[in-house]
Amino acid sequence: MTQKIDHAKVKSLVRELLTALGDDPDREGLKETPRRIANFWREFIEYEPGKLDTTFSSVKHNQMVCVTGMRVWSMCEHHMLPFWCDVSIAYIADDKVLGLSKFARIAHKHAHKLTLQEQLVSDISEEVKNILGTDNVAVYAKGEHLCMTMRGIRTPHRMISSALDGHFLETAPRLEFFRLIEE
Ligand SMILES: [Zn+2]
Repeated sequence: MTQKIDHAKVKSLVRELLTALGDDPDREGLKETPRRIANFWREFIEYEPGKLDTTFSSVKHNQMVCVTGMRVWSMCEHHMLPFWCDVSIAYIADDKVLGLSKFARIAHKHAHKLTLQEQLVSDISEEVKNILGTDNVAVYAKGEHLCMTMRGIRTPHRMISSALDGHFLETAPRLEFFRLIEE
């Protein structure tokens, strides 16, 4: 991870923000808030996903592998409000297998920044393609964005986005993928 936060600066900016919001940053309940928020941003931005590229060679299998329901939390870059989504990733590889935990690590890695769900889905897809050396990758995410639920139109919703490439552009693998993630 390369991006680092300026913890002291975030802390002092949150203090300023509290003042600008008309509150008193020195009152009991808010005294520790700038530090807590700076800690949160450090934890969020400097997230360390661990090793991502462990692949195993396997016999030529040509199976579709699909991992579903990986809940990640991210932060919308337009409003700096949280969104969560349940991510599904599938691939068809000739001779490489990706360790199961890597899918979750890759999903969390790209969620831990200011982004959009569409970008998140495409970042995950690109990374899985690079690691496996194949275009046969499908990524699907269904999520809720607090910038739409708690502000603006104030409507609970599910936003769905997907990125399909390689064999997943063909009808049969595509339908199989959508059937698997609905289960
Ligand atoms: Zn937003």
